[in-house]
Amino acid sequence: MKDFIDELEQNQTLPRGDWITLITNFTPEDAQYLFERARVIQNQHYGNQVFIRGLIEFTNYCKNDCYYCGIRRSNRNAQRYRLTKDSILNCCRKGYKLGFRTFVLQGGEDGHFTDAALVEIVSAIRQEFPDCAITLSVGERSRESYEALYSAGANRYLLRHETYDHAHYARLHPSELSAAHRQQCLWDLKDIGYQVGTGFMVGSPLQTAETLTDDMLFLKKLNPQMVGIGPFIPHHDTPFADQTPGTLSLTLFLLGAIRLMLPKVLLPATTALGTIAENGREHGVLAGANVVMPNLSPANVRENYLLYDNKICTGDEAAESVEHLQQSMQAIGYNIVVSRGDSLNI
Ligand code: SF4
Repeated sequence: MKDFIDELEQNQTLPRGDWITLITNFTPEDAQYLFERARVIQNQHYGNQVFIRGLIEFTNYCKNDCYYCGIRRSNRNAQRYRLTKDSILNCCRKGYKLGFRTFVLQGGEDGHFTDAALVEIVSAIRQEFPDCAITLSVGERSRESYEALYSAGANRYLLRHETYDHAHYARLHPSELSAAHRQQCLWDLKDIGYQVGTGFMVGSPLQTAETLTDDMLFLKKLNPQMVGIGPFIPHHDTPFADQTPGTLSLTLFLLGAIRLMLPKVLLPATTALGTIAENGREHGVLAGANVVMPNLSPANVRENYLLYDNKICTGDEAAESVEHLQQSMQAIGYNIVVSRGDSLNI
């Protein structure tokens, strides 16, 4: 498989059949070879820097019912909460002092946060923190809504495409949601001028090497500024409670492959990666990732934003532990930096 890895590095893509072969047949030795190449490329563009983003999970209400998600509307056991504008601003203040220069506002699709409400929040953050990037991750909205939020000062938008394959998408979501609409949102966001992040779960139910290949080819086509992938982890209160989780090895392999395919992309070592394995995030960085997103939400709500079981939300995952995070990154030769950390993939 090393030939395929060399070809991927050289051409920054592979023919569809070769992707399928590589994803299906790679060995641990192939993975080590891929990670070495990914680190070289990461270093060429970003040195040994790891960027941090302060994650503020500001609402866990959601009108949608995605089959894999712990905060889906049908989950009556979820303890619902919303943060106020003041509380969100306080998270930003705390984060700024800790060295964060990007705030990520993430939430379910919560009708309480109308365009006007979100514009007010984004404008207030923009005014108080002119040197920071504001990232939104609030799902599918209208183009007008995205435009209003961009005008209010949001710079970046995260919207995982989840799976490119329309039939597979339909197995993970109820019929009112579609892959086509989600992908259109991503094209709209890009067109408006956002730095866009997308991505998918690794090991989601019914995923195949073919659907993963289509995910890789979609990433190549969209050419986003950031790609977030993490293992699927089942949540006990969802229809997928008994499904098998995604693996560390495949997630890491795909992280390395994405670094070769989109050399300058921002690539987070996700919370889900840190949840399925001890030192999962460090493994992620050593496979080519260069972003971590500690949690800046108030401590008393963190455990309620439970998208999947056993999600880590204290310890190094908490924003308060930046110093410790720095130590663990330094131990593997990397350095947390105080920076907006804009993508070089433009
Ligand atoms: S995955 Fe997102 S849109 Fe779907 S139910 Fe969960 S929070 Fe809502």
